[in-house]
Amino acid sequence: MKFIDYYEVLGVPKSATDKEIKTAYRKLARKYHPDVQKTGGKKEAEEKFKEINEAYEVLGDADNRAKYDQLGQNWRMGQEFQPPPGNSGYQTYHMDGMDGFGFSDFFSSIFGQEFSRQQAGYSGGYQAGARSRKGEDVEVEISLTIEELMVGTEKDIQISLPALCTVCEGQRFSNRGVCNSCGGTGTTEEHKKLKVKIPSKSYPGTVLRLKGLGGKGLSDGPSGDLFLHVQAKPHPIWRVINQVDLEGDLIVRPDQAVLGDQVSMQTPADMVQVKIQPGTRSGQKLRLRNRGFNKNGTVGDLYIKVQIDIPRNQTPQEIELYQQIFALRNK
Ligand SMILES: [Zn+2]
Repeated sequence: MKFIDYYEVLGVPKSATDKEIKTAYRKLARKYHPDVQKTGGKKEAEEKFKEINEAYEVLGDADNRAKYDQLGQNWRMGQEFQPPPGNSGYQTYHMDGMDGFGFSDFFSSIFGQEFSRQQAGYSGGYQAGARSRKGEDVEVEISLTIEELMVGTEKDIQISLPALCTVCEGQRFSNRGVCNSCGGTGTTEEHKKLKVKIPSKSYPGTVLRLKGLGGKGLSDGPSGDLFLHVQAKPHPIWRVINQVDLEGDLIVRPDQAVLGDQVSMQTPADMVQVKIQPGTRSGQKLRLRNRGFNKNGTVGDLYIKVQIDIPRNQTPQEIELYQQIFALRNK
């Protein structure tokens, strides 16, 4: 029999994530579903549809994918394939009332027995009501300004959750074959609005776990969790260092640096009074303790980096004074 490269069938790289595989599968399943084909290419589409479903049966399941990856890494599409020992005595799997949705010999040679076993429980469940299963965990990213992270905020976010397909009730198959409504994934997308609270001093990279706000569980199964990955937007002044520290530039004039001064500066949380010591050099840093972000109880510091710059317009009187300094230095 010929080796089948399931990655090639779905058009995804070997490194594809579960989500990428699912997306590719859904797209192809919709495109080649026999119900949507015109009479012309119907036969080819049906073949293609079978291949796609078989590929997803393997790559869409973590265990199957691992097994396939381990087995198939040295094989190319279409190569003559010899099933490994220990897989013999398989039974080809057919689901009742699903003519035309059988799997290839190649598939059966690898997954035959196990698949039959799995599906026995699966279809048994189909008749007796679905087995309960925990809902999917969902990962969402949210980007906030440094100020929002520092003082805390409340945000409305839009998320799409995997919801159980109501047509096939998550079974993926109906008695007519692969479910048309969900493309055979068993889930559809449910869009939801949520208000989330971000605590003050949340460091960029914080992951908030919102229990039970992920995908709905199957049958009596609990809902999955929502994992909110908090990121920082770039800021014109403040840079995040080591996740918890902040650093920003404070521009001072040469006379302030030489003589010392007290200036106010807006930090992400509030206005602070900064004391510039006489004789401060450019690049020197002032450290304000515990004004950074909080990571598991470790609170970072805020660094103010002094940068000396000259004002744009010098008055004739200022020039004259600089000339005096210049003359003194060049004696
Ligand atoms: Zn469905």
